[in-house]
This record gives sequence, structure tokens and C-alpha cells, in this order.
Amino acid sequence: MQNKLPQNVDFLKQVERNSCYEGVWPIAECERLKQALAETECNQSGEVRAKLKFGVQAGTPCLDGRVEADLELDCQRCMEPVSIHVEGGFRFGLIRSEAEAEMLPKEFEPFMVTDSEQSLIELVEDELLLSLPIVARHEEQCSEILQKHKEDDSVQHDTHRPFAGLKDLMN
Ligand SMILES: [Zn+2]
Repeated sequence: MQNKLPQNVDFLKQVERNSCYEGVWPIAECERLKQALAETECNQSGEVRAKLKFGVQAGTPCLDGRVEADLELDCQRCMEPVSIHVEGGFRFGLIRSEAEAEMLPKEFEPFMVTDSEQSLIELVEDELLLSLPIVARHEEQCSEILQKHKEDDSVQHDTHRPFAGLKDLMN
């Protein structure tokens, strides 16, 4: 089992140390992400995986991140859970003021840091939320429940004809 990520860290201190975190975080503890997901066992027991690397690139204190998770969303066609693999990444340039944001090379997204600890998990959660499909659907065919409805419909069609004749016989 992989290590749990630290929830909060002092970003600039981690830049000095070239810290790299690789680990997991329970989906059950990601409140905002959870709201977008299906209420399933898989989501309740699942984990988000992330690799987060602090350092200096092009003279800029930065944080590179890769995040991924296997999640279940509600299929918008049959409303049954659909499994989705989600992954994303970011490259933040860590800034302390608006002026620093303007100096930031284009390849970095600005992220404002303070002197105190800040949440790593929120960044991971944000990235996953951005990476979710706008509409989730089963790719091939929808769940057995929907299939079964279809089958029931076709069975009814087949059996309608004989019974239609029966009514005449009864009269
Ligand atoms: Zn479906």
C-alpha cells in the first residue's frame, strides 16, 4: 500500500528541499470531489494517487504534479455507475505577489503561496475535478438493468400478437 500524502505543507520550504511526494489520499476525504461522484462502494474505499514535486525551474520556484484516480460516476443514460480512469497534471509557478505573477514564464500557472502551510490535497482535488468528463456514459452499452428493460419491451411485443387474437376468440 502506498503512503498517504501530507495534507498541508509549507510550499516554499519544500522548494528549498526539492521535496517529492508520491502517495495516495482517500476519495472519502475529498468532499468536493465526492459530490461529483456516484455513491458507490468503489468510491467510498478508493484512493486518489498523486506525485508532487517541488523545485526550481527556469529560476522559478515551482510545483509539478501528476494526479490520477479510478472513479465511478453516474451514467447519464442509465443512471448506473460507470467506471472512469481520470488523470491530469499541472505545473505551478509559486508566487508571492501579483508582480511576481506578471514575471512568470508562460509554461507556469501562477499559484499564490504564503509563509504558512497550504493544502496539497486541494490542488490534487481541483485537478481531478477539472479532469472529470462533462458527461459520463457507458461506452459500449448501458447496464444490465437498462438492457433488461429493452428485453422486456421486446418480449411484450412478441406476446402481444397472440393475445390480440385471443380476445376475439373469447367473444
Ligand atoms: Zn449507462
